[in-house]
Amino acid sequence: MALLQISEPGQSPDPHQRRIAVGIDLGTTHSLVAAVRHGVAECLPDEQGRVILPSVVRYLPPGSGSGRHIGFDALAAQVQDPANTVSSVKRLMGRKLADLPGAGRLPYAVVDGPGMVAVRTVAGDKTPVEVSAEILATLRFRAEDTFNDDLYGAVITVPAYFDDAQRQATKDAAQMAGLNVLRLINEPTAAAIAYGLDQGAEGVYAIYDLGGGTFDVSILRLTRGVFEVLATGGDSALGGDDYDRALADWALERLGAGVHAADLPAGERAALLAEARRCKEALSALAATGGAVTLALSLHGQAAQLAVTHTDFAAATAELTQRTMAAVKRVLRDAQLDRADVQGVVMVGGSTRMPVVRDAVEAFFGQPPLTNLNPDEVVALGAAIQANQLAGNNPDGDLLLLDVIPLSLGLETMGGLVERIVPRNTTIPSALAQDFTTFKDGQTALALHVVQGERDLVADCRSLARFELRGIPPMAAGAARIRVTFTVDADGLLTVSAKEQSTGVEARIDVKPSYGLSDEQIAAMLQDSFATAQQDMQARALVEARVDAQRMLDATRSALAADGHWLSDADRDAIDALLQALDSTRAADDAAAIEAATEALAKGTEDFAAQRMNRSIAQALAGQNVENL
Ligand code: ADP
Ligand code: MG
Repeated sequence: MALLQISEPGQSPDPHQRRIAVGIDLGTTHSLVAAVRHGVAECLPDEQGRVILPSVVRYLPPGSGSGRHIGFDALAAQVQDPANTVSSVKRLMGRKLADLPGAGRLPYAVVDGPGMVAVRTVAGDKTPVEVSAEILATLRFRAEDTFNDDLYGAVITVPAYFDDAQRQATKDAAQMAGLNVLRLINEPTAAAIAYGLDQGAEGVYAIYDLGGGTFDVSILRLTRGVFEVLATGGDSALGGDDYDRALADWALERLGAGVHAADLPAGERAALLAEARRCKEALSALAATGGAVTLALSLHGQAAQLAVTHTDFAAATAELTQRTMAAVKRVLRDAQLDRADVQGVVMVGGSTRMPVVRDAVEAFFGQPPLTNLNPDEVVALGAAIQANQLAGNNPDGDLLLLDVIPLSLGLETMGGLVERIVPRNTTIPSALAQDFTTFKDGQTALALHVVQGERDLVADCRSLARFELRGIPPMAAGAARIRVTFTVDADGLLTVSAKEQSTGVEARIDVKPSYGLSDEQIAAMLQDSFATAQQDMQARALVEARVDAQRMLDATRSALAADGHWLSDADRDAIDALLQALDSTRAADDAAAIEAATEALAKGTEDFAAQRMNRSIAQALAGQNVENL
């Protein structure tokens, strides 16, 4: 692009020209949608004024009305119809049964579907992608109703832990819900944006996110308004649900029941867990020292009651809180930092309302954590701010986000060993290469096996993809030079390419992993899904071309406003004509034409831009001695 300036501060597009972009926190327990309105990010409420949507879908027998309930209605039916009420589906995203040792304890039946698991309901087998799409579509409709307009796109958050398969599954769900995914960002990164840490003091921050089903901890470093994730860690199977179970088990033990919650019949178990959760949340609201809450349960049809104090709760759950703090220590070690280096701690996730958690975090870091934003909302709010920026609504603030990959990526080498190419916690987007060679004389093909994980043996890592490089010219063993490049894009998705250096023969694979839904299966699911337009690659290209065009238009106009008087009438007319042309092309649905017009404007303003650069350098140099330069 020829011009440097993007737009004058405060000159944002007219309200009616703004593109509506939302941030969505697709949570294990709750999901939310937020948008920047009147310059402020806020969560959008449903018709009853509730911003939270329980991430729960209940499937009804075929032929009964809408076929499903989503959110609060589904949650209310969980006790009564646990087998068809799908909650915590995020834990199943992009997973196979082999990945889910705890699947047998879920209140609904999980079976191995095509590649990914599926939930067996009265309405048929539902993949986690389909269930998530129901939740996302509900939030999409909420946003469209709020603005009475179509959405331009959405930023969706995922745990820093999510691997390629889980991220891809999230994208597929969004596509199925008719959303244009502007970007996936990590939840802790979104929280940091919501707290405006980029506007604040430079330094190192820790993000402690304890939700319903996952625990994430991330270490961020802020430098000149830009932040970088130094390290992430946590436990993808630890959250508020575990506190519920621990309290339920504590109650059963107190009553001498001789069973764990997991052993109860599904209905009683679900009721007990719901009651434990209610007590846990009620306890958070009690003053630190005071009182007790009453836990009521029914065991084999017998009603019973128990008083629960803070001390009881702390004792019943101490092990869980300690596990989160152990993960905090590990991630600090990964970042090669000491707890004293952390200048602020951000609390995210509903479970950080628990005093036991706040106390443990405060004791460890020696400072009270930041809790002034609603911990349920911060992730969605940050995503909304990011979405607003990606939509080009905020041209004077270009936030640079650097995320990291959660698990190392590498190649299988001789003997089933892993050669690590991209170490975990590498910032993305990024590209890393390594040279390999043939190990046999005359070898003309090389098999590449891409794996993910921290272990040295391929057998202990997760297999992501296999492909072959063919057409290597026959050479002595060790003479061929094959450069393998791993490219991870801003969404954390991976492309691997292999190129023989002397001949240039090349092979590549997009690791569109690994849960193995075929394109046909995805297409079929798309057709079955909502009657929404399929957001295909073309739509995306168009959107991107328009964003670039708008940026170019804004930049040119502000440059003309500042320095247009330097131009001759003829030059000015030429630029005006190009501006006009781009402005009118932008409205049409032709990405290639928009790109061409953008390019033409960039070319046509090159000299002007160079002149502006020269003058500003000349101005900067004016009055200085050569010695000072
Ligand atoms: P997720 O990101 O996994 O969807 P959330 O951030 O929405 O999770 O947090 C949900 C969890 O927060 C649930 O386990 C819920 O019980 C817990 N939670 C919400 N409010 C409170 C509270 N006042 N005290 C303790 N836990 C709470
Ligand atoms: Mg969350």
